[in-house]
Amino acid sequence: MSKVIAICNQKGGVGKTTTTVNLGIGLANSGSRVLLVDADPQGDLTVSLGWAEQSLTATLATEMEKIISDEATDFKGTVLHHSEGVDLIPADIELAGIEASLVNAMSREITLKTYLDSVKNDYDYILIDCMPSLGMITINALAAADSVIVPVQAQYLPAKGMIQLMRTIGKIQRRINPALKVEGILLTLADMRTNLARTTAESLRESYGKAIKIYDSVIPLATKAAETSAVGKSIYKYDRNNAAAKAYENFTAEVQNG
Ligand code: ADP
Ligand code: MG
Repeated sequence: MSKVIAICNQKGGVGKTTTTVNLGIGLANSGSRVLLVDADPQGDLTVSLGWAEQSLTATLATEMEKIISDEATDFKGTVLHHSEGVDLIPADIELAGIEASLVNAMSREITLKTYLDSVKNDYDYILIDCMPSLGMITINALAAADSVIVPVQAQYLPAKGMIQLMRTIGKIQRRINPALKVEGILLTLADMRTNLARTTAESLRESYGKAIKIYDSVIPLATKAAETSAVGKSIYKYDRNNAAAKAYENFTAEVQNG
């Protein structure tokens, strides 16, 4: 049984892409078959894993375009294989055009789901790295997902943004994907020298703790974690003794244990 998880927060710079890379490779390191999907026209996930955007001809955009126009897709010709054991459906700026194509498409909310359903059986986990908006592509990600992980920057209590995100998730549950669950909230970019991370965690627990899991693992702010995207590696490969590597490893175990 494969599990599709959307890594989602409409705020940029909260660690969505970094979490997708290190959760994905963490799961692969413990033996799971993992597909990562770059659902952001900025293509940060694709670049972080070592592929330059300009060199791509087949991407999530070309595949979704085929679904929209009812043509056969080409997963084998689109999927990329990373040396650390994960597969990737890449993206580039062309994905921005899909947002507009989807508006007039039949089954516009389930285009990505239709695509992923056709390859789901080959993977234990499919992680979708969402873009920083709640537009059609993100709606497609939430419609395709079994659950959502929300990375939140530990230093900022995201009160307003969280309400908006939870409202969108509620709407998706009622109208498109009743089985969608919020897997949990992950605190990222935590400056361990301050108490702010703890304060944010406590406030989130007060507001959402009964309804939503807040992971025990907190990802610390670490220069090395920011450097990984330039070298196309996970934090485990780049600096395995780093505090962020340990934190992402613990987080991976928490996700695996449900
Ligand atoms: P998002 O996908 O939500 O926009 P990113 O994962 O791209 O967020 O992270 C935002 C920025 O912060 C990137 O430059 C990234 O390299 C950096 N970053 C991510 N995680 C960490 C961390 N634990 N410590 C320091 N920098 C980080
Ligand atoms: Mg990102």
